[in-house]
Amino acid sequence: MITRLSQLFLRTLRDDPADAEVPSHKLLVRAGYVRRIAPGVYSWLPLGLRVLRKIENVVREEMDAIGAQEISLPALLPREPYEATNRWTEYGPGLFRLKDRKGVDMLLGPTHEELFALTVKGEYSSYKDLPVVLYQIQTKYRDEERPRAGILRGREFVMKDSYSFDVSDEGLQTSYDAHRAAYQRIFDRLGLKYVIVAATSGAMGGSASEEFLAESPVGEDTFVRCVESGYAANVEAVVTAAPDEKPIDGLADAKIYDTPGTETIATLVDWANANLDREVTAADTLKNVMVKVVQPNGKTEILGVGVPGDREVDMKRLEASLAPAGIEMLTDADFAANPFLVKGYIGPKALQSNEIRYLVDPRVVTGTAWITGADEAGKHYVGLVAGRDFTPDGTIEAAEVRDGDMSPDGAGPLVSARGIEIGHIFQLGRKYTDAFSVDVLGENGKPIRVTMGSYGVGVSRLVAVIAEQMHDAIGLRWPSEVSPYDVHVVIANKDEAAREGGERLAAELNSAGFDVLLDDRKSSPGVKFKDAELLGVPLIVVVGRGWAEGKAEIRDRFTGESTEVPGDEVVATVVMRRN
Ligand code: ATP
Ligand code: MG
Repeated sequence: MITRLSQLFLRTLRDDPADAEVPSHKLLVRAGYVRRIAPGVYSWLPLGLRVLRKIENVVREEMDAIGAQEISLPALLPREPYEATNRWTEYGPGLFRLKDRKGVDMLLGPTHEELFALTVKGEYSSYKDLPVVLYQIQTKYRDEERPRAGILRGREFVMKDSYSFDVSDEGLQTSYDAHRAAYQRIFDRLGLKYVIVAATSGAMGGSASEEFLAESPVGEDTFVRCVESGYAANVEAVVTAAPDEKPIDGLADAKIYDTPGTETIATLVDWANANLDREVTAADTLKNVMVKVVQPNGKTEILGVGVPGDREVDMKRLEASLAPAGIEMLTDADFAANPFLVKGYIGPKALQSNEIRYLVDPRVVTGTAWITGADEAGKHYVGLVAGRDFTPDGTIEAAEVRDGDMSPDGAGPLVSARGIEIGHIFQLGRKYTDAFSVDVLGENGKPIRVTMGSYGVGVSRLVAVIAEQMHDAIGLRWPSEVSPYDVHVVIANKDEAAREGGERLAAELNSAGFDVLLDDRKSSPGVKFKDAELLGVPLIVVVGRGWAEGKAEIRDRFTGESTEVPGDEVVATVVMRRN
């Protein structure tokens, strides 16, 4: 196929869009791949759609290769199945809800576990039918709180979601492993740099789960790795190694001190070093952070979170630990309604005597002694011992994970980096099949409850992720597997010979099986070169000044190399470069 730029529905922009912060967003808009319609809602223009379709095809080929079968479910869905699993409530404000003309509740699907479980229940009834893996590549809807970076986090986006159904846990493990390998092949074919990390399961429920994160400084996920052991996890999923409990016998009694003006950990540590005859660090203090936990049904509860004073509470870790509930900060009104919460001096004792749920960092084990609030302005406890003077209601993973922290497997220090989630695989188990009693008859005639996995790839997000990882200072750069065209031929001279030469080369390249973008516009060579660089087709063939001597120039967008080639060797050179 030859597409002429003079005909293509495309206008490139000289300036970055005002709302764009990350490079992929700027470039995809400037290069005319996508256009914004509303926050998190984008149109695909011809070039963008071609990239999207190519990514879809890579995903489709690799899913088909593991025996998954493609189907397509509606995006417009009834409420009842999501009511049965409680996700109508649990999804909270993230769900797009609507009513039909009869006033019946409906939703736009954010993910389809319920419907796939029901679909399999509808068709299959024997253990002989299983395992089965079904998938779709479909538009999903989520009313994201912070739609971001163009198509990177949309409110409407394309996902490949697949679901496996097995009669045994071993079967589920096999389906999971097959997906894991298929995802590796997909992301390898797309040329991405990514890591597979342990993940939490969030709103999905279930147990084992891993995420595929594309490495990127603009990623919203933080992951940690231990070079020594290969351990890798989303920080949300890092489990803090708890130290051993210590004996309480022989520990000094807790004592209240006047500590005026010590609302912050820094001022408290200064006070302690000036007034206690030992060296104190922030890690000796216990900081109590108050949050409001908002259940999906709207019920709220005040929660106290105790962490060593040298660490911040990581709100994303806290949120992941409390999911599907959300968290909010306490308002002045909340403090006024609970006068025992004395800002800067909150301690475990007042929380416990006022029946506020109190969860602590796993490092706060029985027998550890802390400097912490005494619940009165200007007063702190010294030597308040966990398991003796206060007993938390449990532990919570909320403290920040830092570079240099010991890996949970004890093998070495953790290093952190940022990534963009491009895929997520879950062993769901029976959460959804229980909700709908999805059973098949076993060999012995007894019903077996089916076990499920669910697996997602962010297909439209991948367009932005590839752009993000591959772009350079002057524009987009597409790996050949997903580039909208194989070759971009630029006619860079006004004379008739160059025009004819460009046309002829385009036709030859097309006959050799390449998709060609031909810049046959009347614009100046400078404008054409800039556009070619911006659009990001990996090979650019320039028919310009050299054509008078029968030579074209081949530019490689990835290496930056430019070579002069006789006109009759252009096709052979392109063939060679593409392989
Ligand atoms: P995130 O943590 O980025 O919000 P998620 O964990 O909610 O993603 P999943 O439910 O695991 O997402 O969905 C499967 C895949 O769909 C994700 O790995 C991601 O690549 C993609 N995806 C999820 N939300 C969006 C979105 N708002 N826009 C584009 N792609 C998305
Ligand atoms: Mg996910």
